[in-house]
Amino acid sequence: MELNEKQKKIREIVENKDILLLAHSYQRIEIQDIADFVGDSLELSKNAREAKQQKIMFAAVRFMAETTSILSPEKKIMIAAPDAMCPLAAMIEPEELIEMKDKHPGVPVVCYINSTAEIKALSDVVCTSANALKICESLPGNEIIFVPDQGLGSWIAEQTSKKLYLHYGFCPIHWLISPDEVKAQKDAHPGSLLVVHPESNPKIRALADHVTGTSGMIAYAKQNPGKTFIVGTERGMIERLARMFPDSTFIPATQGYLCPNMKKTNLDVLLNALINETTVVTVNPEVAAKARKAIERMHG
Ligand code: SF4
Repeated sequence: MELNEKQKKIREIVENKDILLLAHSYQRIEIQDIADFVGDSLELSKNAREAKQQKIMFAAVRFMAETTSILSPEKKIMIAAPDAMCPLAAMIEPEELIEMKDKHPGVPVVCYINSTAEIKALSDVVCTSANALKICESLPGNEIIFVPDQGLGSWIAEQTSKKLYLHYGFCPIHWLISPDEVKAQKDAHPGSLLVVHPESNPKIRALADHVTGTSGMIAYAKQNPGKTFIVGTERGMIERLARMFPDSTFIPATQGYLCPNMKKTNLDVLLNALINETTVVTVNPEVAAKARKAIERMHG
């Protein structure tokens, strides 16, 4: 693929300065095309930890860079767009979680990785959409406090006999989609497969052929070669799938799947951040130590 001048300049800087460039799957495709690695938040953290580079630049939202800073405190973790926040992660304040814990004493707290360092520090275990059910099932007792995403939480509640106490947080991109629009796309493409993210509203999940996170969507596309997929997740991921599986067709379930925070990173923003190296993300060491335990428990 032919890179444009800005993309070439970015690659030149990351190589000269020995910076690892990580992009989330929801980033603009021109950013994904030049990243050293593209993936979900856990995959990005894992790559950052294992990389030989001591400097990491994130094209993503803040909690993802924070998670990496928690796991790799010795590295210089930077974010291209420092104002790129995740509204879902911002929906819960530590006081709210403390209140939930007081109301349900002794009940284990599972927190979705899409959360701030402070919320992770107050939780027993962190989870991703891929392992949330397994983690909830593995904890002692029949009750779980699950924060902050009621989308993922309600999906887990449908699959377990345990009682889940959910926070009301939601991802505006996945939660507020109209089922009528998705139904209309399904009707317009008979024989297609509708795959949606677990953060989706239950009304959208009920229409789906398959509910899975980003890595699961890649596996699903691989298992069904040459098919037409209607995809219920952020459009950056849909473009990524189209790049990976050129013989299949990927259609957004609605045009609404666009995360403005993920799109704050463009080539100019990234170029500036790489030149200046000032947008460093750090986490208070006390908070980081507690959050690290909750993340490490996820791995068993
Ligand atoms: Fe947060 Fe949703 Fe945007 Fe992901 S798509 S960063 S969960 S607001």
